[in-house]
Amino acid sequence: MEIERHEYDVVVIGAGGAGLRAAIEARQQGKRTAIVCKSLFGKAHTVMAEGGAAAAMGNVNSDDNWQVHFRDTMRGGKFLNNWRMAELHAKESPDRVWELEAWGALFDRTKDGKISQRNFGGHEYPRLAHVGDRTGLELIRTLQQRVVALQQEDHENHGDYEAYIKVFAECTVTRLLKDAGSVHGPHGRISGAFGYWRETGNFIVFDTPAVVLATGGIGKSYVVTSNSWEYTGDGHALALLAGANLINMEFIQFHPTGMVWPPSVRGILVTESVRGDGGVLRNSDGKRFMFDYIPDVFKDKYATTEEEGDRWYTDQANNRRPPELLPRDEVARAINSEVKAGRGSPQGGVFLDVSTRLPAEEIKRRLPSMHHQFKELADVDITAEPMQVGPTCHYIMGGVEVDADTGAAAVPGLFAAGEVSGGMHGSNRLGGNSLSDLLVFGRRAGLGAAEYVNALDARPAVHEESVEAAHAEALAPLERTGENPYEVHHELQRTMNDLVGIIRKAEEVAEAMEVVEKLKERVQLVGAAGSRIYNPGWHLALDLRNMLLVSECVARAALLREESRGGHTRDDFPGMNPEWRRKLLVCSTADGSSVTVEEKVQPSMRKDLFDLFDRDELKKYLTDEELGNAK
Ligand code: FAD
Repeated sequence: MEIERHEYDVVVIGAGGAGLRAAIEARQQGKRTAIVCKSLFGKAHTVMAEGGAAAAMGNVNSDDNWQVHFRDTMRGGKFLNNWRMAELHAKESPDRVWELEAWGALFDRTKDGKISQRNFGGHEYPRLAHVGDRTGLELIRTLQQRVVALQQEDHENHGDYEAYIKVFAECTVTRLLKDAGSVHGPHGRISGAFGYWRETGNFIVFDTPAVVLATGGIGKSYVVTSNSWEYTGDGHALALLAGANLINMEFIQFHPTGMVWPPSVRGILVTESVRGDGGVLRNSDGKRFMFDYIPDVFKDKYATTEEEGDRWYTDQANNRRPPELLPRDEVARAINSEVKAGRGSPQGGVFLDVSTRLPAEEIKRRLPSMHHQFKELADVDITAEPMQVGPTCHYIMGGVEVDADTGAAAVPGLFAAGEVSGGMHGSNRLGGNSLSDLLVFGRRAGLGAAEYVNALDARPAVHEESVEAAHAEALAPLERTGENPYEVHHELQRTMNDLVGIIRKAEEVAEAMEVVEKLKERVQLVGAAGSRIYNPGWHLALDLRNMLLVSECVARAALLREESRGGHTRDDFPGMNPEWRRKLLVCSTADGSSVTVEEKVQPSMRKDLFDLFDRDELKKYLTDEELGNAK
């Protein structure tokens, strides 16, 4: 068994915004840091983020501040959010955006030269710092530039660019290693990570006392998704298998506007900025149907006539925002209902029209990527005709349960940040809150990991039997001539899409769980033809373990939560239930293959944070007992 080995203080798995920001922090704290990523360096979901990073800088509307951002985030998450995370996020996002600017990010500007901020669903004021509709690209470019700057500094001081920070690209981690216990389970501390190079299939072990997971989402468990191939829930599964808990896994964000046509691009994202910049949703009767779908909790915040909604774009002080800018879960459900009622577009979506709302040149200037995307992929000119759009699996609110301040998971030495962590967004994430989440909690997790390492007396040693077990597990699909992994994957995707999708019913979710159980048996027999050298069938066979574990978490939690809230809609329990609001569903695995879900009560929000809300509003979310305690 010949395995390449490296020793680091901190290993960050994932090179999106959260991973890069964590790695920069760990390196700035003097730690020898590795960044490992499954695909090319620079290719992560963060790059695809279009709309912007939400931060209450108050540049466009000086009434904005962290308290308003905190309130919007809690409302968006239907109060299920980890309030401490929402507080830290609202307070620290502006500093993280300014820091990016100091590191070279070129944000769009207001007329008076400040960082421009745009409107987005659920945000009371224009709040998203952006670079056209390519904000994620600029964020990653800037963070990569910062990594290079640190490497140049290291070259000057140590004669080696990679002395303190090194990137391992196209390298997939399949197991976290610990200093005690079996391959999985609750015992022991993190001591390393095991993975393989995608190109050669050769194996690699990182000896490290601290791992920061920043692996992003799980979208590839669904057929219609905005996510790309890497997003197979690896970090979620790695954490679970190492003995950490996942929370809020039932909450999946179906973005209201994915492309629906042509079939080859179904699910690709149409940014919310189209609506933020004036685009409207219409059904096949030409009706702006969102006015029929304003829920009671938002009634006083949204325009009830088209005229008022339209006036808001130019006069926000005296008008309420149009309902096209309701939080994503509301808009996605409304589109779903219109299509089901037979008022959809020819290809099974609804119409999103910006062509009659803005001059062609303005559309090209504000939404260059969208203009290009529709022209190239669907032969649609969005300056002249409407787009057809429908819900697409986009983001998971659930993830690794972490300490809000440090990003530490339950396993000593394990940290998580970004989409792979849970809690910050509650039951539904507001657009733009992810990019700022990555920066705030990426930094905190990097710092948490560095401080953890500082406090260690001695480095935990890698348990060599675990390395052998991880090695055997990785090789297994190559040693079988069993079932095709693509068939198992497709069945999982269809099952999750059809039975644990945007609207859920107990019997359908239960049926999905039965299918997942059968797929878990079939995956043991999956074989990958060919060698270890660049073999995508083998890679998928390994990813399937993760997708199945994560799908089981989603389905089990979805069955247990008997209410509708944010990204979890139960047809058989249509209302929000305050009794369920404080309950978190916590997933764990004892044997590495089956998932257990337990209920946990979330701690009450701090009094000063309660006081930021109107009591009448709180009545919509809290039980009488909680309201009494909040006095
Ligand atoms: P990612 O950026 O997803 O990076 C994950 C990293 O982990 C990658 O480098 C990947 O290769 C690596 N990885 C995964 N598994 C492994 C493994 N096993 N081993 C090694 N490496 C691994 N949010 C906003 O706030 N504003 C927006 O405008 C916005 N637009 C979006 C548009 C699209 C099309 C999409 C898909 C998402 C958008 N989001 C937006 C959401 C946001 O981009 C993501 O939630 C966020 O970028 C996730 O960042 P991250 O750092 O957690 O992970």
